[in-house]
Amino acid sequence: MAMADMRPPIESGCPDGFQYMHPTMRRNFGLWKYHTDPKPGVLRHVAESGEEIFTVKAGTQRILDIFSLRELTAIGDEFADGYIRFTIRSNIEYYVTDEAKVDPLIKALEDKGYVVGGTKNSVTSLSHTQGWLHCDIPGTDASGVVKSMMDELIDEFKAWNMPNRVHITTSCCQINCGGQGDIAINVQHTKPPKIDHAQVSNVCERPSVVARCPVAAIRPAMVDGKPSLEVDEKKCICCGACFPPCPPMMINDAEHSKLAVWVGGNHSNARGKPTFQKLVASAIPNNPPRWPEAAGIVKLILKCYKEDARDWERVGEWVERIGWPRFFELTGLPFTKYHIDNWRGARASLNASTHIRF
Ligand code: SF4
Ligand code: SF4
Repeated sequence: MAMADMRPPIESGCPDGFQYMHPTMRRNFGLWKYHTDPKPGVLRHVAESGEEIFTVKAGTQRILDIFSLRELTAIGDEFADGYIRFTIRSNIEYYVTDEAKVDPLIKALEDKGYVVGGTKNSVTSLSHTQGWLHCDIPGTDASGVVKSMMDELIDEFKAWNMPNRVHITTSCCQINCGGQGDIAINVQHTKPPKIDHAQVSNVCERPSVVARCPVAAIRPAMVDGKPSLEVDEKKCICCGACFPPCPPMMINDAEHSKLAVWVGGNHSNARGKPTFQKLVASAIPNNPPRWPEAAGIVKLILKCYKEDARDWERVGEWVERIGWPRFFELTGLPFTKYHIDNWRGARASLNASTHIRF
């Protein structure tokens, strides 16, 4: 085929972000000299050229309705040259080159009920997985957990009270897109799946369900003359991986699907390997609409961290320094046999670094 006849590629990924950037940021891309933090929720970046730009950060409810979006963008048009950005933690950022507009912008946001903060050593907005809204396997509504927990932590969002930044995450199942965080609230199933045998042959592709189990606990079986599946409950680690390919393997349960709190996770960066979070509280009731038990444990951990950690220590670094026994002493959380990871398969099958192994 001649070159002239070739069709252009279809670009279906993210659009180029430069077109949405504030012109001052575009002009000074890669040429920033330093930044300062004038007050909670505000950053001031100064470029080599002497130009400066202020970023004002506000928390949002993440699942945004069209009315809130219009309200937020109208504030951007009035006070911030029409440029906004959403962060991965559901904060909205406005960019302002005129310092005199910073305080009126903050006032406009606060008058509409938005909270300005989330910078420097604060507890920034919680990130969460999609929950009931978008996914077919959640064991709880992560966005609900986040909303109720951020309501409890609002003062920590607005102030610089923590030894360092705190990132909190929630995830609504145990296996897929859940996040790592300084503190993570994750679903914890505590019973093997209950199988609706009448449905399995209609709905499930049995070999793919068998292949899905990480501990080989699922076997094909005939039940009442119909092809179905059975689970070796001694092997089952209640991970929930069999539920997405086979909904009749119901694992969600109002009583036995619980929450667990993990501490000390961090992604790798230029200075260090990723750190894995460790379980500190398990079998917490999954108790909507305000999840008071889980919120109480998170607040307790934050209180101990605030009182005991040194400046600049992240939660995981603080626990590494004082040791896990002291962490359990300080927080008063019970240490049980369920905190001990005795699954030996992890040594061979889990990657502990980003290096590719063959
Ligand atoms: S954490 Fe699990 S249930 Fe929640 S959105 Fe991700 S895959 Fe779905
Ligand atoms: S819950 Fe997990 S471990 Fe248990 S049978 Fe299903 S896939 Fe296997």
